[in-house]
Amino acid sequence: MTPAPARRLVLLGATGSIGAQTLDVLTRYPDIARVHGLAVGGSRPRLVVEQVLAHRPEHLVVSEPERAGAVSDAVGAACREAGIPAPRLEYGQAAVTELAGSLGPGDVVLNAITGSVGLLPTLAVLASGARLALANKESLVVGGDLVTREAAPGQILPVDSEHTAIAQALAGVRPEQVDHLVVTASGGPFRGRTRDQLADIDPEQALAHPTWAMGPVITTNSATLVNKALEVIEACFLFDLPEDRVEVVVHPQSIVHSMATLIDGSTIAQASPPDMRHAIGWALAHPEKLPGLAAALDFSTAQSWTFEPVDETTFPAISLARAAHREGRGAMAAYNAANEEAAAAFLAGRIR
Ligand code: NDP
Ligand code: MG
Repeated sequence: MTPAPARRLVLLGATGSIGAQTLDVLTRYPDIARVHGLAVGGSRPRLVVEQVLAHRPEHLVVSEPERAGAVSDAVGAACREAGIPAPRLEYGQAAVTELAGSLGPGDVVLNAITGSVGLLPTLAVLASGARLALANKESLVVGGDLVTREAAPGQILPVDSEHTAIAQALAGVRPEQVDHLVVTASGGPFRGRTRDQLADIDPEQALAHPTWAMGPVITTNSATLVNKALEVIEACFLFDLPEDRVEVVVHPQSIVHSMATLIDGSTIAQASPPDMRHAIGWALAHPEKLPGLAAALDFSTAQSWTFEPVDETTFPAISLARAAHREGRGAMAAYNAANEEAAAAFLAGRIR
């Protein structure tokens, strides 16, 4: 038996889209880190059981207190049956933040919680000195100043395909050599439609994303282009640029994940088939590369990659977010809060 790696990993949002893909990467590359703790909302007890049996975390946190009992019963029974020690279970939002801050330098925490509730865990990781693999972009949107002030250079590795791409494009480039960034957008399921044509859209239509399979909130945000708007702000904070130096271009194939244009007129792009395990593995293993992590592009058959401007009339989300970023203070938090409420109301069928 090979010894367990010394590096520990805490995964926040383990049962979500990014969380499950992170555990998939760890199963295939067990040398990256051993799973120290998992945090979940608690709505998927059976998946938690599977994850605990496969990864044997020492700590398990359920953020929703009313769901902790069901998770605890299911995990306890499964561990007894398997003859393995059950993880220490805690519940509540404060326990999530405590778990986030419980590691230290040399360890890694991947924050894949959805929403601004991810901010306090993000700050706790930064204070602990562990690497922060950050999928929870809302942390940067609502608390960008706080987060960047707390972060040591290189401590945050983005787990968002666009920002992972930009970080790779900028490897070896000095900040003063960057002219602007180009964030690509698939355009979502409603690309090409007019405002009028979107009046009667229902959640099922909004959740049918053409290129990515993701959690419900980010998928809804992709349909409105709010996700791209959040990503513009995310890029401003991660790469320390004003919003007018972060361009957005629609690229329906989702193959070029983003680009950086340098002062000499050269544009550097990162490309791969759409698969979030690429971004996850990059952030966990950096500066190493994981062999065979995801499929590479295949140029033996013809393909076309297209680029077109954003329709700002149908999709005003990006220009609104730019205004919020210029305004600063609480405007970005207000933007995100308004969107979290609107997306929840839309998904619950309360608004159109
Ligand atoms: P999901 O909705 O699929 O997963 C969210 C996860 O967080 C679930 O495990 C959920 O538990 C858990 N959770 C919910 N509330 C809390 C809480 N308060 N404390 C701890 N855990 C909690 O989301 P995604 O995986 O799609 O997205 C996660 C984040 O990553 C978002 O910020 C998103 O914008 C970002 N992102 C996602 C991408 C993707 O491809 N999915 C791509 C780029 C960024 P439960 O299962 O019990 O509900
Ligand atoms: Mg993205």
